[in-house]
Amino acid sequence: MAGSDCSAGAGIQADLKAISALGCYALTALTSVVSETPGKVSIVRLLDPEFIADQIRLLFEAFPIQAAKTGMLGGVAQVEAVVRTWKQFAGEVPLVVDPVMVATSGGKLLEDEAVQAVKSQLLPLATLITPNMDEAEVLWGRPVTTRKEMERCANDLSQTFQTSVLVKGGHLQDDSADDVLCTADAIIWLEAQRTHGVQTHGTGCTYSAAIAAALGQGFPLEAAVEEAKDFVSRAIAGHFAWAHHAGTVHALN
Ligand code: PLP
Repeated sequence: MAGSDCSAGAGIQADLKAISALGCYALTALTSVVSETPGKVSIVRLLDPEFIADQIRLLFEAFPIQAAKTGMLGGVAQVEAVVRTWKQFAGEVPLVVDPVMVATSGGKLLEDEAVQAVKSQLLPLATLITPNMDEAEVLWGRPVTTRKEMERCANDLSQTFQTSVLVKGGHLQDDSADDVLCTADAIIWLEAQRTHGVQTHGTGCTYSAAIAAALGQGFPLEAAVEEAKDFVSRAIAGHFAWAHHAGTVHALN
């Protein structure tokens, strides 16, 4: 359940690639179509909520779904369509919620009014939420700039929404890209070296899709996040660069 990125580095295209690379079959319910590149969001079209609900219903009726993720939802009506249909059909299926709000290029991917709908309706349904530091700040209502704040935020959000929380530290002001995972039982740091000088468009989508794939394969949550962290770190290290547009357009493999 996510939006289309025509440049195929993020959104549903990133999800499809990550889930396929991990040996699973990805079904896709589109919430929105975005005309964008890694450097610019041009036009956003949110899809009819009934159409979103119909895709989800149809997929649940036809396939043995093992796990799911949400990415870009766009607006209140789209969030509500996903929530309504999820409650109707998903049962105990694990749900990873990537609370996508703003693209790195600056384009808005979630209307301001929809943040409250995400908080009050969607997050309580999640098995795991995966905010980056900026999204964590919006959800928490306090600054998230240091490791200590990441940990406090993950802990507070976990208690508030009664779910596990992964705060991603890709925006930490040092050489690391460490993330913190807070579950009902533990707080775990996942460490990684930052890879400099590469375009990271779509890494958040790839990460949450990889977690959903691992959950669908039966990994317990902590192991699923570790597998996915390793996958996304390798994807960044082996990034694909467009020779003719060096400096402007790169994409993950
Ligand atoms: N475009 C779409 C459709 C997305 O779902 C996302 C997800 O976060 C992005 C863009 C984000 O792009 P970036 O990784 O550059 O922030």
